[in-house]
Amino acid sequence: MQSITRRWLRGSLLISVLVLVLAEALFLSFCYQNLYGSTESALISRFTTIIGRLQATGTAGDTDATANSRAAALRRAVEQFDEKDKFEFMLLGSGGTVLATASGMSNENLLASGADYSRALTSAEGIGSVIFRTPDGERVMAVTALVPYAAGTITAMRLVTSLTLVDRQWWSLLGVSAGVVLAALGLMVWSGLFFIRSIVRPLGQVEAIAHRIAGGDLQTRLPDARYNDEIGRLCHTINEMAEHLTETERMKNEFISSVSHELRTPLTSIKGWVETIGTLHDPGDPNYRKGLEVIGAETDRLYEMVEELLDFSRLQNGIRLDCQVLDLVAEATDAALFVEGRIRQEGLCLVYEEPPEPYPVWADPARLRQVFINVLDNAIKYSPPGGAIFLTLSRTPAAVVVAVRDQGRGIPPEDLDKVRQKFFKAHNAVRGSGIGLAVVEAIVTSLGGTVDIASALGQGTTVSITLPVYHPGQEHLHEPI
Ligand code: ADP
Repeated sequence: MQSITRRWLRGSLLISVLVLVLAEALFLSFCYQNLYGSTESALISRFTTIIGRLQATGTAGDTDATANSRAAALRRAVEQFDEKDKFEFMLLGSGGTVLATASGMSNENLLASGADYSRALTSAEGIGSVIFRTPDGERVMAVTALVPYAAGTITAMRLVTSLTLVDRQWWSLLGVSAGVVLAALGLMVWSGLFFIRSIVRPLGQVEAIAHRIAGGDLQTRLPDARYNDEIGRLCHTINEMAEHLTETERMKNEFISSVSHELRTPLTSIKGWVETIGTLHDPGDPNYRKGLEVIGAETDRLYEMVEELLDFSRLQNGIRLDCQVLDLVAEATDAALFVEGRIRQEGLCLVYEEPPEPYPVWADPARLRQVFINVLDNAIKYSPPGGAIFLTLSRTPAAVVVAVRDQGRGIPPEDLDKVRQKFFKAHNAVRGSGIGLAVVEAIVTSLGGTVDIASALGQGTTVSITLPVYHPGQEHLHEPI
């Protein structure tokens, strides 16, 4: 499995290490060139001085006399060489044989290698250099420069110097720079690990707890106050999600228990009356008629409940609309007629003034009726006996508004925002599953309309449904979902 630490190791750390190592290599190569190159330049500059002096010796021609005087000048230069403590100065004959040395041929070790002489012979500038280890184990640098003029048997000059000091400088530079690189690397790894741990550890906790929540442990919560960064916000979001899940789970359980409870009551009543009627032999018996009435009413209740269950499954699967051009006035009148019986039964009255002209809308007749019935049903449920329910229709050029107002108990202000959520029931709710208004909202929104709910506790509630007026040719604006 991929981990953030591994990704960091493979990605940013590896690149940083490579860059550091490359920078170190470049730095060291620059220092090496500089250190050993400057030693070589110091030797060559001495040759340049001597050759300059030689040029001034004798005339421009290469006569024997001039050659001899140059050879003599060179031998003198070797004898009087005053940097014997730092360099060994030699004169070489043909084949690289040593003719004279400033130290008097004493140091056999320095005579050993002749590679610089052969390099000088092949190089264009007539200069060759070599670094080698003497039989004593001392590292030295030898530079040979060919004498560009005839100087008797002398063909080249050679300077040899010990590299002990330069080597020491080189090694200390190497040590210090490697130390700096290692320290930088260590700091990088330490700070990187510190940073990664500050992310990985809490993330691991979040992962473990989120896993528990996903597994159904909805009471567990993440410590979202511990971090005030992205992790804190992630914890907060997961907690909110768990809160939502808990609430939905609770409402769903309530829904199931209330539906099963409500199903049982009419079923018990129907069963009881069927048994009673079964014992009656005279159809003229008053209980016979009453029994049939109760069975009819309870069957209606069962039918309503099954409708609610269907609503629930529609909400879950998305509401499908089969739209056509409708007259909203006719639909509202139909719905009013449909609930009229119940309104009277509950001791209420419906105040409805049918507008004279049709209000054309683009809607699904069955779903629109469901909207009216759900809203009217709530108004009936929450109205006190003797109260009035007002059904009002109005229109503007662009929209039609259907308002259902009751004089009932009202919705507590803190619940007003939530009553459209599925399964939500206000604190003062009576029977019902809590999905009526959720279905209303879903249908009206799909039709391009809006639902507004205004309510005052103890005074009543008004639910206003606004739908766009249909204009011919606008079907495409109301794509059914
Ligand atoms: P139900 O299908 O159970 O009636 P709804 O979704 O229609 O649920 O309504 C949700 C909640 O809104 C109800 O439980 C009730 O508390 C509140 N409510 C809706 N309409 C009214 C109303 N006219 N008067 C008072 N409360 C209402």
